[in-house]
Amino acid sequence: MLITGNDLLSVANENSFAVPAFNISDWAMMRGIIEISEETDSPLIIAIHPDELAHVGEDFMPAVVQAARRASVPVAIHFDHGTTYEQMLIAVRTGFTSVMLDASMHEYEDNVARTQQAVAVAHPLGLSVEAELGTIGKTDDEAEAGTEDIIYTDPEAAKDFVAKTGVDSLAVAIGTRHGIYPSHLEPELKLDLLKEIKAAVPLPLVLHGGSNNPDDEIAESVKLGVNKINISSDIKVAYHQKMREVLQDGGLREPNTIQPACIEAMKETAAHKIRLFAADGKAALYPRLTDLR
Ligand SMILES: [Zn+2]
Repeated sequence: MLITGNDLLSVANENSFAVPAFNISDWAMMRGIIEISEETDSPLIIAIHPDELAHVGEDFMPAVVQAARRASVPVAIHFDHGTTYEQMLIAVRTGFTSVMLDASMHEYEDNVARTQQAVAVAHPLGLSVEAELGTIGKTDDEAEAGTEDIIYTDPEAAKDFVAKTGVDSLAVAIGTRHGIYPSHLEPELKLDLLKEIKAAVPLPLVLHGGSNNPDDEIAESVKLGVNKINISSDIKVAYHQKMREVLQDGGLREPNTIQPACIEAMKETAAHKIRLFAADGKAALYPRLTDLR
């Protein structure tokens, strides 16, 4: 069942769990995350970043839409970290049901104006909009957007931002970083800050870059109002780590003999995240909404 990001996350907000947003950019991983979501009866966000869309090509999207429609669990297809108006239009045209417009690297008023523009185009077309306030750190060159230092989200600014833009969900900076943490940095979430932000803006909050934060902190953040958590590095590391092992056998050649073990390893990591976010079994909470397309 293909639904909007808003329909997906409002149920999560009412029931205090987080939907995993798994970033994928190949078909095997795409199938794997749908399979594990169905096996755990968990709602799912398929996240595709502009770099990932460029890698797979736009012709990939009709198949993703079809797979989402056929899934036994509710699925939103989310455009992760769009940065321009033109990219929003590409997301609309290619079948996404949710977009992120990340203008957090700009000055506050500029972020507001760009986000308003994204909402103005997305809402009438039935797409949900996620924005970001504050900036999430980044840890390595393979990571997505981010700055060296985290700029924490200010609760008062969040309230003003949501009122002015009408966004459906908000990515907050409370101590996560994109990518895999280097050993000299200690990940730590500011859970008190999260409480203040949720009190100021009771809409679904989003965590990016939570790959290396301790499980107990992540579980606590879900109880405190985080309703979407992006997972990219962790599932890709699991997938390719297994692939390195499998390819030790130099005789292997066929994707259908190489990939299945890698998909299984990725699914194991994904299942751990699904349970950590208390998303398992939650597909049952969704009414049979009319499929979007
Ligand atoms: Zn992100």
